[in-house]
Amino acid sequence: MSSSRIDIRTSRRRPRPHRSTCPDTGKIRYRDAREATDALQYLLNQANLADELGGLHTIRVQRKYACKSCRGWHLTSWATPDGRGAPGVALAA
Ligand SMILES: [Zn+2]
Repeated sequence: MSSSRIDIRTSRRRPRPHRSTCPDTGKIRYRDAREATDALQYLLNQANLADELGGLHTIRVQRKYACKSCRGWHLTSWATPDGRGAPGVALAA
């Protein structure tokens, strides 16, 4: 007659993130260059569309880069062709 079952574990279940993120940068991690390119294109389209419609947006991504920490790809807003000025790179003494 003991039917008081409290399932604590199921209620504390952590929701799985839709996309994996980088433990180092906290950015969305793309598995390969193509996935990053697709995402970049999509965001740039969204930004162009918003510009044409006169809407406001905060999309500033410019390019993709390979991350050494997670071995994935991220999008970033710095636009220097050779990567100078990238976070972390310029600090190397
Ligand atoms: Zn990363």
